[in-house]
Amino acid sequence: MGATPPVVTRFAPSPTGFLHIGGARTALFNLLFARHHGGRFLLRIEDTDRARSTQAAVDAILDGMRWLALDWDGEPVMQFARSPRHAEVVHSLLAAGHAYKCFATADELKAMRGAQRAAKVPLRYDGRWRDRDPADGGDAPYVIRLRAPRGGTTTIADAVQGNVTVADDELDDMVLLRSDGSPTYMLAVVVDDHDMGVTHVVRGDDHLNNAFRQLALIEALGWPEPAYAHIPLIHGADGSKLSKRHGALGVDAYRDALGMLPEAVDNYLLKLGWGHGDDEFISREQAVEWFDLAGIGRGPARFDLAKLTHVNAHYLRLADDDRLVDLVAPRIARLLDRPLTDADRALLRRGMGELKLRATDLDGLAASSLFYLRSRPIPMDAGAQKLLDDPSAGGLVAGVRAALAEVAWDAAGLEAAVRGVADAAGVKLGKVAQPLRAAVTGSATSPGLFEVLVLLGRDEALGRMDDALSREPVA
Ligand code: GLU
Repeated sequence: MGATPPVVTRFAPSPTGFLHIGGARTALFNLLFARHHGGRFLLRIEDTDRARSTQAAVDAILDGMRWLALDWDGEPVMQFARSPRHAEVVHSLLAAGHAYKCFATADELKAMRGAQRAAKVPLRYDGRWRDRDPADGGDAPYVIRLRAPRGGTTTIADAVQGNVTVADDELDDMVLLRSDGSPTYMLAVVVDDHDMGVTHVVRGDDHLNNAFRQLALIEALGWPEPAYAHIPLIHGADGSKLSKRHGALGVDAYRDALGMLPEAVDNYLLKLGWGHGDDEFISREQAVEWFDLAGIGRGPARFDLAKLTHVNAHYLRLADDDRLVDLVAPRIARLLDRPLTDADRALLRRGMGELKLRATDLDGLAASSLFYLRSRPIPMDAGAQKLLDDPSAGGLVAGVRAALAEVAWDAAGLEAAVRGVADAAGVKLGKVAQPLRAAVTGSATSPGLFEVLVLLGRDEALGRMDDALSREPVA
């Protein structure tokens, strides 16, 4: 036995739209498989469909991949630029008798399909030029078709789907080169995979049927067969095909609109269709160590935004505070309608350790951070208003206001003072702490009250209490 070739995988998106969540998962699986085996993960942009491919889509795909750290090796291969090579391969097949010229006109093929439809037989090219002398075609335009095998069967030992067998006669002689000399998609995939040294084709199972046609071509060329793994598509939580309604958005929407962290999206996508025991949170490092094709499920995976959000909350808690300030600052600036000052950022940074424990996405984190940076008088949400409208609230807040004017401004001193007010009034700490929290944060929930007071500073905190004491009760 010769040495096993190093593993080479590839992700081959068609640049007709954004990088969607299914594509990102395919790319991730290819990356992890290659890294697990110490191999290479390549990127090929399948831009042969000139009418639908756009540079904006290429940029969006590369941007999405970079964001998710789906770092490919080498330069992306642009498929369209390789057309001459694709044509060259077809001419070698023609010379070897594995392909032939077909001069059938569009009208002729239409009539052929009409007759097949009437006879209720599958619509397939009937091989009318397979054994004809091409000289009969004269100067007429022609396509070049593969002389596909007949009469046998082809079995693919798919790493996910198992053995799948198709009778050769179910596949007709596909076109490789169109009459204008342009290569077909099926040809381009095979040639590019070969030239890129791809050993494992891991892609959506909507391509399983294509694999049989591609394999016939690979055999005609005498090239080594890649291993295949066709992964089930992602469905919505309700089991139907994933649509926009289910979150089939571009990955940029997960970053921008939904405020997810890339490591959370990666972790969620990994778990979507691949399992490693009960492990829910898996780092990239662990994923590389553990990933295998055998762990990919055969059933369609179900996309669940609530689960992704749960995973995101986990990674927010782990994220570095400075990084979170950077991520959340533009969102806060939008909400406040002003840029953040250095002092704002410093304050946010000090509060972040607690703020991030309660957030599930970056918008939520921005919203819950806002109270630190608001100018007085800060707005009160409904929960805060209710707390402050309680008949006992005014007296307690006023008591705290007076007590706090005196104390050392640190957490221990503040807590002792607030407790003192509660004890004197004969109420539990919460009875004082809640309206106080409402007064200084504008909300009934916030990070720890004493931390908030410390970070706001004496003047700001006392000012906010004064504002609350002078506000008109809401009827
Ligand atoms: N360009 C194809 C797609 O975007 C992928 C083809 C392949 O992976 O072989 O669906």
